[in-house]
Amino acid sequence: MKMSKLFVQTQREFPSDAEVISHKMLARAGYIRKLAPGVYTFLPLMWRVLKKIENIVRQEMDAAGAQELLMPFVQPKELWEESGRWDVYGKELMRLKDRHNRDMCLGPTHEEIITSVARDGLKSYKQLPVNLYQIQSKFRDEIRPRYGLLRGREFIMKDAYSFDVDEKGLDKEYENMAKAYTKIFKRCGLDTKMVQSDSGAIGGSVSHEFMVITDTDAGENDVFYCNECDYSANSNHAVSKLPDAVVDGKDYFKEKAVKDTPNTFSIEDLCNFLKIPSTIILKTLVYIVDKKPVLALIRADKAVEETKLMNAVNGNDIRIASAAEIAEIMENNGFNAVPGFIGPKGMKNVSIIADETVKDMKNFVVGINETDKHLVGANHSDLGVELKYFDIRLVEQGELCPQCGKPLFVTKGIEVGNIFKLGTKYSKPMNAVYLDENGKTHPYIMGCYGIGISRTAAAAVEAHYDDDGIKWPLAVAPYHVVVVPVNINDELQMKTAVNIYEQLLKAGVEAVLDDRDERAGVKFKDADLIGFPFRITAGKTLQEGLVECKVRESGEVTKITPEDAVSKVIAAVRNIG
Ligand code: ATP
Ligand code: MG
Repeated sequence: MKMSKLFVQTQREFPSDAEVISHKMLARAGYIRKLAPGVYTFLPLMWRVLKKIENIVRQEMDAAGAQELLMPFVQPKELWEESGRWDVYGKELMRLKDRHNRDMCLGPTHEEIITSVARDGLKSYKQLPVNLYQIQSKFRDEIRPRYGLLRGREFIMKDAYSFDVDEKGLDKEYENMAKAYTKIFKRCGLDTKMVQSDSGAIGGSVSHEFMVITDTDAGENDVFYCNECDYSANSNHAVSKLPDAVVDGKDYFKEKAVKDTPNTFSIEDLCNFLKIPSTIILKTLVYIVDKKPVLALIRADKAVEETKLMNAVNGNDIRIASAAEIAEIMENNGFNAVPGFIGPKGMKNVSIIADETVKDMKNFVVGINETDKHLVGANHSDLGVELKYFDIRLVEQGELCPQCGKPLFVTKGIEVGNIFKLGTKYSKPMNAVYLDENGKTHPYIMGCYGIGISRTAAAAVEAHYDDDGIKWPLAVAPYHVVVVPVNINDELQMKTAVNIYEQLLKAGVEAVLDDRDERAGVKFKDADLIGFPFRITAGKTLQEGLVECKVRESGEVTKITPEDAVSKVIAAVRNIG
């Protein structure tokens, strides 16, 4: 490819809406163009990168025994009603009507469709196990599309679905996919950590996410991990050994009493006012889960993890209640206390979920739904409700590993892949069954396995860049090498460059010849920004019979003969795993 013909327009500035490196770099280097929030055109360079990632994914999925198909992007409501997800999948599901007024949606994921495909085709145990996958655009009407390709609304995903006769088969396929994923990301130049996670809207019991660890804002997930053993989990799923209350040995309230606690709207206010540690306060938070109120009780030195709380009430959507909603909930229960003084006592028309930290609390301080008052020296019998205990606590760095008891650490991660054990979550309601040896029907035991193709490309940029631009891993770079004649009007330089370029092409290397009549500085800047893994420069050193070969990743520049430069690049390309 000649640079003069390549459809790429590099920009001087980063786009104003770009917050993270991959968004900034991909936009400035001419890879993506925004059409609408979270919707991008993948320009030719980007499309080459995405196709490379897709091909790595294809090769590894095929090698793992899966078969590729392609399902429709637009899906009818009826299937989503069969699975029960039409009503519970939130606003991310983009719903639309066709000209006959039939309800449809844009595919955010394909469990319903694949289950219907399977039930029509997989009738007998003899046909199982099967793993089917596709690579396709998905649409999720994300509430906050941001970070360029990391969180788009339209994005490319590989989604695979496995069908087995029993749990043992599923376990085996889950392992098989986990191994394939590790290989895929490694080949894309990414180190990933496989971490335990919540199953979210897809459902099922066990799931793991593949995280690219990063210390930048692009990592939207907190990952807890242990250095002593292999424990690691997304914060939405992480657990730790229940930390002891750090009480200072003092017995604060031996006697139960209602105390005036004016203007103590926050835990901090209350601690200061009563001169107590937060560990003896029972904190009450008000949430709305699937439009219904839920009170979360937790020892006040700890925070609530919302996904865990949502799961405790089998919900699909959670948010903290607004001041107006809290006022209404209080009124419905016959109270008018303001936030800061709320507690479980006398609350009838709400679900109450207590964290495990509450279980052993004694002589504590708790709101009693009267503004400017708290009950001190309270015990469980004073709450007037039988508490249901769940782990709804957000783990904190330094708490102890649930497996080995050593301190946990936290870091940020970009989720590039996710594997789930679905069991019969879809096959049962959709009556997707096979016949066993005795002619008895059973629902398939299913798994599903996703990889964000476009997110993986962006994550590769997050992991490989410097101030000058992108440093693509060779296996996913749009081109392997750019050949730069410093001055195209210098006959020797141009002839050498063209010669090198042609030899590389002949050897199957993806090369670009920068044949533009531009200053060397401009060409070098573009080469670094676009992120060609190699740059071969034919310039002044030709007087000594040498060219310059620059390795983008390390920045190393060597003066070598044109033949050696060509061999070096060919060898590297042949070596791509
Ligand atoms: P997230 O928690 O980041 O919203 P998810 O868990 O909802 O993602 P999955 O349903 O597990 O996503 O989808 C499989 C993969 O698709 C994810 O691991 C991720 O790589 C990719 N993906 C999901 N949502 C997006 C998005 N909005 N933009 C780009 N890639 C996405
Ligand atoms: Mg996920």
